[in-house]
Amino acid sequence: METANAPWPKSLWAAVTPAGPDLPELKGSVEADVVVIGAGFTGLSTALHLREQGIDVAVVEAVEPGWGASGRNNGQVIPTLSRPDPEDIIKRHGAAGERLVGLIRDSASILFDLVRRYQIQAEAEQSGWVQPVHSPGRIKIAERRVRQWSKQGAPVELLSSDEMRTMLGSSAWYGGFWNKSGGHINPLALARGLAHVVLQQGGRIYARSPVDSYEREGDRWIVRTAQGQISARALVVASNAYTGEFSKQLSPGIASEVMPVLSWQMATQPLSEQARRVIIPGRQAVSDTHGELYFMRYDARNRLVTGGNVVGFGDKTERL
Ligand SMILES: Cc1cc2nc3c(=O)[nH]c(=O)nc-3n(C[C@H](O)[C@H](O)[C@H](O)COP(=O)(O)OP(=O)(O)OC[C@H]3O[C@@H](n4cnc5c(N)ncnc54)[C@H](O)[C@@H]3O)c2cc1C
Repeated sequence: METANAPWPKSLWAAVTPAGPDLPELKGSVEADVVVIGAGFTGLSTALHLREQGIDVAVVEAVEPGWGASGRNNGQVIPTLSRPDPEDIIKRHGAAGERLVGLIRDSASILFDLVRRYQIQAEAEQSGWVQPVHSPGRIKIAERRVRQWSKQGAPVELLSSDEMRTMLGSSAWYGGFWNKSGGHINPLALARGLAHVVLQQGGRIYARSPVDSYEREGDRWIVRTAQGQISARALVVASNAYTGEFSKQLSPGIASEVMPVLSWQMATQPLSEQARRVIIPGRQAVSDTHGELYFMRYDARNRLVTGGNVVGFGDKTERL
């Protein structure tokens, strides 16, 4: 098993975000109704919603809350999926698909409401999310999305190329899809804020405690770390792409499904008020229709934080 001393990756978010809560390591044997492995958005949100139902929950994290993807992403709050549209989802999954579409439609508002309700200092801005179209042929994607999400009652609008130029300050795009309920947050601040709220609500979080393995014993799950163990009625594995990182035997079936995709992000110096009057004056979060995604948003200090992915073949380092 790896040690828990994984370095905190250097990033804008790590530089500007106040420290998270002081957390104990897992030592000895403890019990809970539910044990959650991983303190990213998935694990922390699960723990918070369980606490809201009065369920006793313990989260075990290999490093610290937000150390994984949740503390390193672009912080765009996007109330849609990248590929399937509502009709595809409902056609394939029936009533469950309808519930999923409703959840996706409301997802941004659920998050912003939660941030307001618990007063999480996550630099949240519900300024909308926009998907500009990067080639004339893809305007059909925006038209289809606006048509389908409108039918579902989502606050969406189709933008012409002129409207997109005014919204973004660039004529690089051919129009696009605007969802007014989206926006952006500081992702590491959200993860650390969620950790504070889980504790305030009576949940437990153990940090610097990589889970080595879990197994079923009778009607309980036993989760083991180097120095302790948790026995629980139910188990949630929320270790994401890091599933094989700290322990090869944690969940080989999940770890074998993980495929590396390179991604880059960079931030400008804070932009002047004059520049901000032209470049995305409405401060929307933006991610366009490129397969490799070009995305950008302002942070709370008016830096433009932008990035993309490197998908497919060729010299990835060169392309990065
Ligand atoms: C560069 C980039 C940009 C992105 N931009 C956006 C965006 O703008 N908007 C958006 O919605 N999504 C974005 N995403 C996706 C988003 O970040 C993830 O979907 C989300 O953070 C996943 O949360 P999670 O809790 O499932 O996983 P993670 O945040 O990765 O958390 C998993 C946790 O499990 C812990 N763990 C792993 N193994 C163990 C173990 N053995 N024992 C204990 N703990 C363990 C890890 O330490 C980690 O903290 C982006 C992702 C990347 C990489």
